[in-house]
Amino acid sequence: MSRTITVIPGDGIGPEVTDATLTVLKEAGADLEYDTQLAGLTALKEVRNPLPKATLESAERSRVILKGPLTTPSGSGFRSINVEIRKTFDLYANVRPVRTIVPGGRYENIDLVLIRENTEGLYVGVEHYIGVEGDPHAAAESVMIVTRFGAERIIRYAFDYARSRGRKKVTLAHKANILKYTQGLLLEAAAEVAKDFPDVESEERIIDATAMQLVLDPYRFDVLVMENMFGDILSDLMAGLVGGLGFAPAGNIGEDAAMFEAVHGSAPDIAGQGVANPTALLLSACLMLEHLGDPETAGTIRDAIDAVIQKGDARTVDMGGSATTEEYTRALVEAL
Ligand code: NAD
Repeated sequence: MSRTITVIPGDGIGPEVTDATLTVLKEAGADLEYDTQLAGLTALKEVRNPLPKATLESAERSRVILKGPLTTPSGSGFRSINVEIRKTFDLYANVRPVRTIVPGGRYENIDLVLIRENTEGLYVGVEHYIGVEGDPHAAAESVMIVTRFGAERIIRYAFDYARSRGRKKVTLAHKANILKYTQGLLLEAAAEVAKDFPDVESEERIIDATAMQLVLDPYRFDVLVMENMFGDILSDLMAGLVGGLGFAPAGNIGEDAAMFEAVHGSAPDIAGQGVANPTALLLSACLMLEHLGDPETAGTIRDAIDAVIQKGDARTVDMGGSATTEEYTRALVEAL
């Protein structure tokens, strides 16, 4: 029996890359049914709620979401719906693999995985203004929250992930030299959890030095694990190692639910032009197929992506080509 998943096309380039992804999934023979739902700015405009009840109910039923990017207003306006969904379903592990697909870039043969804690840290949204002498915005405070439970859970996930996929090393990237308590808990957890994984090499490294080393010599890393905001920032850096955000997929994994999305946002600068690269969402769909127990179809789609990009005549603009989203998608369908 085919599995029903919740699909949220999202904002900006979301509907364009979602259409391309569903076309390829269908052509590859993925045994899926889709329950399409609204969220984000599109939902706010259409039903005056950025996270409608119907969307949450669909996700409650399906427990698997394929999501396009959602626009989040900066500075004011509604809070991030991405963060809201991750918290609602306790999707604590954000798994972000990057690998080289386009040859001839800055680095060849990159194959790294960043695992970002997804429910704690500075992104818990505990923040407020402090008024002083008539200025209600004289100061602002954001609280970073790390629990021993959350720290151990994400680090154990990273070691389990490394072991189950035959990876050699887990690096905890942290800032425990300055944030001694919150980041210190992650350091403590890593020292404890590593004892259960003598077959996986373990190291800890300060986050700023990690950023520099990732650019100088990315090959020294394998699986990296870190708190929420550090992971948000470094996963964009790592996307840059393999040619940009068009190639960076993500799986948000919890105990009994998961959401798959591209690392990139709604790209308002190119939305509606039909030129977006759908590869990141497609690779996210591949992570979803693996999660659903269908690695064969995921492999077939990845092979088609590799073949089309390496052939080179249907690359989108961000890959240095001139193909539209539709032309690139057609080439993928032909390759399948
Ligand atoms: P962005 O990722 O949308 O865009 C950054 C740059 O990368 C832009 O120049 C864009 O054109 C390009 N780009 C991104 N994806 C691309 C693709 N698939 N093909 C070709 N080029 C692509 O980041 P931003 O501009 O900082 O954010 C825009 C909005 O997206 C904001 O509202 C932000 O909050 C939101 N956002 C959402 C998510 C999510 O839903 N998970 C993630 C990040 C940002």
